[in-house]
Amino acid sequence: MNRKYRKTIIAGNWKMNKTPAETKKMFEELKVACGKQKWCDVVLCVPFVDIPAAVRASRDAKIAVAAQNMHYEEKGAFTGEVSAEMLKELGVKFVVIGHSERREYYGETDKTVNLKVKKALEVGLRPIICVGETLEQREFDVTAEHITMQVKIALAGVPAEKMRKIVFAYEPIWAIGTGKTATAEQAEEVCGLIRAVIRAKYGARTARAVTIQYGGSMNPKNAAELLSKPDVDGGLIGGASLKTEDFAAVINAANQ
Ligand code: PEP
Repeated sequence: MNRKYRKTIIAGNWKMNKTPAETKKMFEELKVACGKQKWCDVVLCVPFVDIPAAVRASRDAKIAVAAQNMHYEEKGAFTGEVSAEMLKELGVKFVVIGHSERREYYGETDKTVNLKVKKALEVGLRPIICVGETLEQREFDVTAEHITMQVKIALAGVPAEKMRKIVFAYEPIWAIGTGKTATAEQAEEVCGLIRAVIRAKYGARTARAVTIQYGGSMNPKNAAELLSKPDVDGGLIGGASLKTEDFAAVINAANQ
């Protein structure tokens, strides 16, 4: 974390979990468990159907609501899809773009990620852009090349003045939902690389203001060590965001 230059953001990604009633309950529990977070912002990325309940419950909880996906077109014949404008109107503040599960199961590509990033920014949503390598790519030692390409394509056509709205999440695919966490050194190395790619394109001032999270089996036990690294500005947390106690413990680790 580097609190001087950028916000620490702890975001929970619920994936396809929790009903609207369960959403209300967990927000209420978090209000009690977390109190005021002085040093970090908290975001919950909830299923589409939970968004109205989450936005209502977030009003006095200081938690921003995120969607887990969106379409890049404004409207039209895209059965089952949801537009950025629809999310904005509901009070959503952030949107996860290019999560590895979306890339793997729903055919999202670097190109569609870029289209979604530009659309989100256009309507005033803050994108949380997920990038990360497979185990095979890490073993072939092409992590840096792969991440550089993902970051460059995601940011194609994004103007410098919008960069403060962008959040990156470095999520090594081999660490998501597996219980295997990247070491703090591995997380720092790749988060630093993402910042270097941003710096090369937009300059040092812009690069140091961008929040870059780590995601991949982050939990109450490993959060403090990961967050102690200067380029790791928070977490995108799946499994450990589903239980109030665990998520509150990660938030508290970011508040030390
Ligand atoms: C995620 O869903 O983005 C994630 C990092 O999941 P988990 O924390 O369960 O690995």
